[in-house]
Amino acid sequence: MLLYLRTLTVLALAVLSGMSTTLDAHPGSPCPVLDASDAAQRERLMNHVCFHAATPDDPAHRAASPDELPASMAWQEARGHDLVFTHTDSVYWVHLHLTNSGASQGFWYLKLNYPLLDEVTFWQTGAEQTTTLTTGDQHPFLSRGIDYRYFLLPVTLNAGESQGITLRIQSSGALNVPLSLETPDTVVADSNHLTLTHGLFYGALLVFAVFNLLLFFSSGTVYYFHNAFYMATMGLFLFAMGGFANQYFWPDSTGFANTSIPLLIALCALAMTLFGRSFLEIAPDTLAASTLRAQAWASAGLLVITFMLPYNRSILLNTTLALTVIGSLFVIGVLRWRQGYLPALWYVLAWSVMLVGALIYALAAFGYLADFLAREFFMLTAIGAQVILLNYAMVQRWRLLNQKLLDVEHNARTELEIKVHERTAQLRNTMRELEKANRKLATLSLNDALTGLYNRRHLDNILPELCAEARRTGQPLTLALIDADHFKRINDTYGHSFGDLCLQRIADILSRHVKRPRDVVIRFGGEEFALLLPGTDSEGACRVCQDILDDMRHTPIKAEDGSEIIITLSAGVARMDTGEHDQELFRRADEALYQAKASGRDRVALTDAEAVQ
Ligand code: GH3
Ligand code: MG
Ligand code: MG
Repeated sequence: MLLYLRTLTVLALAVLSGMSTTLDAHPGSPCPVLDASDAAQRERLMNHVCFHAATPDDPAHRAASPDELPASMAWQEARGHDLVFTHTDSVYWVHLHLTNSGASQGFWYLKLNYPLLDEVTFWQTGAEQTTTLTTGDQHPFLSRGIDYRYFLLPVTLNAGESQGITLRIQSSGALNVPLSLETPDTVVADSNHLTLTHGLFYGALLVFAVFNLLLFFSSGTVYYFHNAFYMATMGLFLFAMGGFANQYFWPDSTGFANTSIPLLIALCALAMTLFGRSFLEIAPDTLAASTLRAQAWASAGLLVITFMLPYNRSILLNTTLALTVIGSLFVIGVLRWRQGYLPALWYVLAWSVMLVGALIYALAAFGYLADFLAREFFMLTAIGAQVILLNYAMVQRWRLLNQKLLDVEHNARTELEIKVHERTAQLRNTMRELEKANRKLATLSLNDALTGLYNRRHLDNILPELCAEARRTGQPLTLALIDADHFKRINDTYGHSFGDLCLQRIADILSRHVKRPRDVVIRFGGEEFALLLPGTDSEGACRVCQDILDDMRHTPIKAEDGSEIIITLSAGVARMDTGEHDQELFRRADEALYQAKASGRDRVALTDAEAVQ
């Protein structure tokens, strides 16, 4: 009776959907038959799909083929919804009844748009025979029959022919069963579009990764390497998620197909941590640095542990780790930005996009998101945007560093200029002081300490010069030697210091009388003085000497005992003869002085002439 009712229901539904009423291999299936030749019906394929989720205690869980399914098994209608299953230990049976109401033979593909299923078996039950195709990750890639990352089941139906299609799916982890029935044209066109999109995406990612690697090799900056590492792992992860890695990298490694996903997630978490740490320039002794170090070690640990844990455990563990890493990097990025590190802004933006992508991935991984293609598209977009933003962030970081470098250079140059300026000023001052000291030294070395008059050295310097000048110009030059009379006596009587005082007085009188700018007064010996009078003839010189002698004679000097002492002077004058040597001039003046002394002192004598007085 129950069977009868069920059959009636199937019939009613088939009539309602306007389909062939050919009976199915599973009379219990309530789903309407799908006319494969009708494009509109193909579009609404999920309205024709029935399924049964068999938990381990269900007899259907043990059934190895549709024949072994209990007759009483209850099929559920998909009612247009995608099949999304979160239970990991169940076996899923899916059933579909196809017919071809067209006038000729038709050829279609039943496409299972989910690449990561461990084991899928297709049974095609026609009027004459049942064909079986067993494939999935746990079988070599070639078991698929058609070299394509998704599962494609070819379906050929003669005019009026019907076929029941049953799928048995077993997979660790949550899974999707997105089915579609497509003509070969559509499959090829879709495949072309997707290949182009994926080619562009992975190509761009590869170029970025290689570019960053080259930057690392040329600059030695480690975060370029981390960025390349991150993009490579991220690209590999998406490649594996999209089923390409199974197709191209490890088509025969059935065991690795499952492990690769959590493994790549852990690797991504490690790469993200390393890149974040170097990009955000985390100071070594901070909480952020310890957090990231812990996460890096955890990622490395999980990389190893993944090989030991079953898929459903490791996927949960590693996804949790990746989400933690993304979350903490986001927080650290925000903190760094708040600390005034500008490139962190772009990093945070990139990471916001990544956060959305990761959440979507997580929702999908645990069976809460149905449309695999939409999810894949969203993730590719999110990660593409993230990669672009991250690379832009690196450009910003580079710009900032460059600016800093320029500032440092500018400051250093300014500082150097200021220093050079200061040093130059200091040097100039020192030079000036040195010059002053030199002048003082020269003055000191050319002057007599007691009287302040020029000394013997100056006489030795200037006498030849003045003689040469007089020879050159023809102007007269007269030398007068003046000596204090009986000075020894004064010294002996009144003491040496009184003698010194007298010498100073003599010097005063000499200076007072020798007024012309070019005239020179010299104390060249104890109580011996010389007057060098350029442009003065012997007559003028004698007059000057006479005035000096007169003045001296009338200027008494007070001794300590109160007595007033009169000092007299004798002078010898000589005018330079044409072509005469300075030594000769001096000798003649000395001779004149000797004459003045000899003829009674206190007088002026002129060489080769008579004394004036
Ligand atoms: P004359 O008239 O022949 O020149 O006799 P005089 O005593 O002046 O000549 P003499 O050359 O014999 O002596 C020069 C004296 O001048 C010797 C010394 O006592 C004195 N005398 C020389 N230099 C200095 C000096 O720097 N200070 C003092 N106080 N006396 C000096
Ligand atoms: Mg004397
Ligand atoms: Mg003397």
